[in-house]
Amino acid sequence: MCPHDNHPRSIAVDTPDTARPGPAPGPGLIEDLVVANHILFDQGVVDAFGHISVRHDKRPDRFLLARNMAPGRVESNDIIEFTLDGEAVDAAGRKVYLERFIHGEIYRKRPDVMSVVHSHSHSVVPLSVVRGVRLQAIFHMAGFVGQGAPVFEIREAGGDTTDLLISSNHLGRALADHFVGHDIVLMRGHGSTVVGGSIQQAVYRAIYAELNARYQLQAMQLGGEVTFLSEGESLACVQSIEGQVQRPWDLWVEQAQAKRTTQTR
Ligand code: MN
Repeated sequence: MCPHDNHPRSIAVDTPDTARPGPAPGPGLIEDLVVANHILFDQGVVDAFGHISVRHDKRPDRFLLARNMAPGRVESNDIIEFTLDGEAVDAAGRKVYLERFIHGEIYRKRPDVMSVVHSHSHSVVPLSVVRGVRLQAIFHMAGFVGQGAPVFEIREAGGDTTDLLISSNHLGRALADHFVGHDIVLMRGHGSTVVGGSIQQAVYRAIYAELNARYQLQAMQLGGEVTFLSEGESLACVQSIEGQVQRPWDLWVEQAQAKRTTQTR
């Protein structure tokens, strides 16, 4: 789709199924994706908007993503398979996310990426709009943020009249190009996208990116010079701490499930 198309559209779109479904994903992959949706909602990373995908474990040229709905309500039968072009394989008429192109184009660009989270988490947005200020690793849990997260400026790829949404392969590719050497990219006036080598790592990074942004805003308000992690510290923190993502994951699963049980009583 050309970014300059002026066809009216909503953020929920119909798309015909054009490709054949692949083999069923391995056991647990869809369950993990469903619970990841619930965790991201429970931890305040997503609200009614935002999404997480996982690369298909049997077909690396496919990915799995929920149908167009609030992440906190996703169940396993809401998960749809997509090609990297963002074409639904088994939507069967269900609405899909307009911004699914974020996921396909990043999986195409980065073969090491197994999961992608896109969100508008609250503390990150301010850091996407101030010239000269970049999100930067401020504490040990967020070493992956590194020495300055790139900011995707949609005007460079789509002009100055877009709705800021990544609604085409063209815009998805322009965003994905920023992930060379970076695992988080801010999107000006919109939010951010983080990637990981697993669902657990992508969820961990989405949660700690939001915390890092909050701490950075708070530290900058104190007025003194802020000491960020050095490049060496960032890399060391990623290597040691992200080896333990299973620990917070187990806790977040339990918390998200407990809240859902309470809500359905
Ligand atoms: Mn968005």
